[in-house]
Amino acid sequence: MGLSELTVERISRGLKAGEFGSEETVREFLRLAEIRSAKTGSFVEIYGQSALEEARASDERRRQGKALSDLDGVPVALKDNLLLAGKRAEAASAILRGYVSAYDATAVRRLREAGAVFLGRTNMDEFAMGSSTETSIHGPTRNPWDTERVPGGSSGGSAAAVAEGSVPAALGSDTGGSIRQPAAMCGAVGLKPTYGRVSRYGLIAMASSLDQIGPLTRTVGDAAIILKAIEGWDGADSNSVRLKPEWAVPERWTDGLKGVRIGLPKEYFSSELDPDIRGLVMAAAAKMEGMGAELTEIDLPHAKYALSVYYVLMPAEVSANLARFDGVRYGNRAEADDLVGTYRRTRGQGFGVEVRRRIMVGNYVLSSGYYGDYYRKAQQVRRLIVGDFRLAFGKCDLILSPTAPSVAWKLGGKADSMSMYLADIFTVSANVAGLPGISLPCGLSNGLPVGLQILGPHFSDGNVLAAAHAYEQARGPFGFPPPLEG
Ligand code: GLN
Repeated sequence: MGLSELTVERISRGLKAGEFGSEETVREFLRLAEIRSAKTGSFVEIYGQSALEEARASDERRRQGKALSDLDGVPVALKDNLLLAGKRAEAASAILRGYVSAYDATAVRRLREAGAVFLGRTNMDEFAMGSSTETSIHGPTRNPWDTERVPGGSSGGSAAAVAEGSVPAALGSDTGGSIRQPAAMCGAVGLKPTYGRVSRYGLIAMASSLDQIGPLTRTVGDAAIILKAIEGWDGADSNSVRLKPEWAVPERWTDGLKGVRIGLPKEYFSSELDPDIRGLVMAAAAKMEGMGAELTEIDLPHAKYALSVYYVLMPAEVSANLARFDGVRYGNRAEADDLVGTYRRTRGQGFGVEVRRRIMVGNYVLSSGYYGDYYRKAQQVRRLIVGDFRLAFGKCDLILSPTAPSVAWKLGGKADSMSMYLADIFTVSANVAGLPGISLPCGLSNGLPVGLQILGPHFSDGNVLAAAHAYEQARGPFGFPPPLEG
């Protein structure tokens, strides 16, 4: 098995045992990332030199018996909306083209302090708005399973990079599904932690009450390793939570799912669901039942409003967060004759169509005449959705569903924004309610990966990971896509 096929866990073990060094490992991933990213556009920048320097420093620490953690020397990639001091972070937008981060995001700093090596930054939809990684200033990312298809989004670059074997782990961000949905479409594992578990400090904000940083990896065990490295309280994020010991990710996995009650929301398995996807998800549920889980049908009566709630609240927060990019305080300025003209030109030229659409919708739903009809109403329904989950988690421990209603579609295949928004139908609820959720592969439909989503109550990330791990063991290894280098 080549170095690039190894998981974080395996690389970490190999480094510890002196089987190979970090420099050798990083060199191999850099080589493959160059070749494969040229085919898929997974990376927007590969850090050749700094990655090798970090790898050598890691090898040196190890030689002196001073390894910083199990992640010391392991390569990771970062989505283009995460700040890494001295490197560009552009959120795939013209308005931030050339922006160099002045500091590390907290999650990034924690990886640095653990000794991880930063391999590069990955492509995304502009400001994380999208489900296909097509709205980037760098052009689209392609799905490594079929380069005529999208990788999902908005963390499509991170998902493709991991799936194609260019890097063993990457960070993404998830506001309405942007970690889980691309993971599903590329055959990777993607975890959105409970809201408040991972600090948002240094993440270029999209919608602050929904945003969460999390890992994309090839295995559930690797997602757990990365989560443990990045989670925890941070004074720089006012929504950050002090983790209680009982919320910890388990140190050891127990196989089997004895007595775990798994809820299947009947609203998510409607007759319109793609029969292949239904079949694979139900087969996964049956497998889990065979491992001791109890399956129960549950109700999420307000689930049908989740998408509408999300597409009111999210743009409202987007319009507030993106107000700072005026070409004066933040963002590349496009000069005009007067100040208002400069604002107009800066924002008109700096933001793409989808970003401008959301800013306009956000301003509309927040405007005095419509606030009550839209924004306040959406907040009220948000409470109902939270209540649905609270009731459901009285009857079950975890909830199982598909991650996405379809497999990866063809590039350009969802030209109207509404059909793109519908791709988020199963993922947005977890953000609206702040719950942890994971997506992991449960099979192929016509040669394309299908994702299984597992949701849990607040701060049950450890249980979500444990159940996903148990299923993953029973499923067996999920392979790589056919080699890209032909
Ligand atoms: N696809 C969703 C959207 O376009 C989710 C984006 C995200 O999670 N960042 O808003």
